[in-house]
Amino acid sequence: MRAWLEIEMDNLLFNIDKIRKKVENREIMAVVKANSYGFGAKETVRYLSEHGVKKFAVACLDEALELRELKLPVEILILGVIFLDEIDIADRNDIQITVGNWDQIEYIKKNNLKVGVHIKIDTGMGRLGFLPEEGERVVEYCLANNINIVGIYSHLSDADGFNRESDNYTETQIKKFQIFEKYKDRVKYIHILNSGGILRFNHELSGNLVRAGICMYGMIANYRVPELKRVFCVKTKILSIRTVEEDSFISYGRKYTLHKGETYATIGVGYADGIKKEFSNRSYVIIENEKCPIIGEICMDMCMVKIPDSIKDKVQIETEVIVVRDDIIEEINVEHKCSWDILTGIGRRVYRVYKENGKPYLITR
Ligand SMILES: *Cc1c(COP(=O)(O)O)cnc(C)c1O
Repeated sequence: MRAWLEIEMDNLLFNIDKIRKKVENREIMAVVKANSYGFGAKETVRYLSEHGVKKFAVACLDEALELRELKLPVEILILGVIFLDEIDIADRNDIQITVGNWDQIEYIKKNNLKVGVHIKIDTGMGRLGFLPEEGERVVEYCLANNINIVGIYSHLSDADGFNRESDNYTETQIKKFQIFEKYKDRVKYIHILNSGGILRFNHELSGNLVRAGICMYGMIANYRVPELKRVFCVKTKILSIRTVEEDSFISYGRKYTLHKGETYATIGVGYADGIKKEFSNRSYVIIENEKCPIIGEICMDMCMVKIPDSIKDKVQIETEVIVVRDDIIEEINVEHKCSWDILTGIGRRVYRVYKENGKPYLITR
């Protein structure tokens, strides 16, 4: 294999158990949108559903239908927009939908659909949904008109801001949402907490369900969560090694000069595998436990890394290289929140290697 993403499924489960303890009596919905953050939605859902997770969230109808192919007894919620001509399909496939406008409600009422609905409230994300006061009218209308409301929810926009202003904003969002607590006897799920909320704001009165995304993978924004375990690692191999005999430019655009006597390796991943171009001359990989800086522009299918003298004699063609891992993301990206962006960007030609107790049990693409 040229490049592969290793996923430690037992650690994923460990993390979910930790989250479960943290959120106490709230239920967990695992967010597996975007192919489960790049880790493979089908295998993730299959594995988690065997281990007690029964609620999943995706972004769109296609993702929900893909999961229904597994024929598992799980609840599935579409967090994103559902178009009117998709609502019947969701209904027929027992897929819950998010409702954020009146047209959807009228359509459901007119066609007498029994589809499970979660009303989306915008408490400050500024993306989709009804503002809180209108949201109350919507809930009342749905309850009065026999629309099958399963949930009411909102989304936090800055729960991982890690500063006073962000935290105040999050608390304001949670407070605004609290007017919906009064429906808890008539509506099954009231929910607002995402990963940042779960890890940092679950002391608040904030519903009876949480939506866990990136925290399942041991992270919050770009930070590792100390009490959670490492789940993922992208690996590749060394394709070539060379010690330069004179100062030499490396890669496209001559942006990096390697000096006489220095050693470098070409490795088997590039930006088409999801190794972002912004990492050029900025990130590093790990070989034989040493950090090796990425030098020069990252190419589509390969990139070059500097080999420190300390490991020069240990590396050879086909030596394994760690390219993306939680500690690398944490170290290089603290100023942008891009762990989601990196993980969901890992390319299609990177194999997914699912492991349990350190041993691979399934390899897919
Ligand atoms: C993506 C998403 C989540 C999960 O977010 P994380 O920060 O990864 O936990 C939860 N709720 C909604 C509405 C989302 O779109």
